[in-house]
Amino acid sequence: LFNKYQELKGNIRVMCRVRPPLGALEEDRAGMSFPDEKTSAEIVLAGPEERSSLGVVSRKNYPFEFDRVFMPASQNEEVFGEISQLVQSALDGYNVCIFCYGQTGSGKTHTMSSDDGMIPRATHMIYDTITKLKEKSWEYTMEGCFVEVYNEELNDLLVPNERNAKKLEIRHDEARKQTTIINCKTVKLSSPDVVETMLSEAQKNRSVAATKANERSSRSHSIFILKLVGKNLATGEQCEGTLNLVDLAGSERLKHSQAEGDRMKETQNINKSLSCLGDVIEALGRGSGHIPYRNSKLTHLLQYSLGGNSKTLMFVMVSPLEVHLKETLTSLRFATKVHNT
Ligand code: ADP
Ligand code: MG
Repeated sequence: LFNKYQELKGNIRVMCRVRPPLGALEEDRAGMSFPDEKTSAEIVLAGPEERSSLGVVSRKNYPFEFDRVFMPASQNEEVFGEISQLVQSALDGYNVCIFCYGQTGSGKTHTMSSDDGMIPRATHMIYDTITKLKEKSWEYTMEGCFVEVYNEELNDLLVPNERNAKKLEIRHDEARKQTTIINCKTVKLSSPDVVETMLSEAQKNRSVAATKANERSSRSHSIFILKLVGKNLATGEQCEGTLNLVDLAGSERLKHSQAEGDRMKETQNINKSLSCLGDVIEALGRGSGHIPYRNSKLTHLLQYSLGGNSKTLMFVMVSPLEVHLKETLTSLRFATKVHNT
């Protein structure tokens, strides 16, 4: 019943999450206000103080509305509560994409890939559900892979030395509307703790691959892909769904003038792929006949999980600090464009 209700709401949803100030230095520097209700959909940014010719000090307000706004005090558990229906949809045979968008430091990785983030929570929930469904003659397999798109190239995060790794290739099966990544390491998630190993392995491989692992991860998109194949042993019914959990590259606008050479190319690729993702979701929302999936590696990879009857959720993550007001406004405007389609 709940999934029916979600379908009525449309297949693209956008939620905002404000991270808390970190430590004493950041306290009281917030530039946002919220209505009182605990589960709100509104967020209001307060602009810088302006003084009129009569000496009256005021601030401009920038209100935004999404499907849901998570306040700084919210925990990952509460956030997961909003996505658990989508995780269920993947078990029901849908393709699902969940993105975290936002500037570096806004809380994308905390929400998605940390030890108590959406990736381990989703995996645990799926594992529990699969165990229960066994009693109803459903047998499921859950397989995962973990890749990154860096500089418009696809890398396997589960393979230690990227130089020795075979080149990954995206293969689409048009008839089944499914995507396979050729040469990608796939892990059978036979028990729920396998996912923790995958996350820490990816973290390790990243730090070997790049001298500055954090910097690298903020400049690449990481995509955790769970494939769920179910078969009812009594009725022969089958279903195949995919859950894509995407931690996007930092959305901060990097000035071209500050970057040179490789860095410049990197910057252009990030800007391009993020705006391309926005374009694809917008075109889908408009019901356009041509969806520009091929304009970036990320949308090409996720082609069958964006659009059609697949489900998309974008979290736009923002910092609570006034110094980040400009970036926050840019992020919320991007999210509004996606939300209003
Ligand atoms: P991003 O991945 O967007 O660059 P991170 O997830 O790494 O940002 O977050 C930056 C810092 O803020 C990290 O130290 C993280 O632990 C902390 N942080 C982010 N969101 C929260 C939150 N909701 N609650 C507590 N700490 C958070
Ligand atoms: Mg991060």
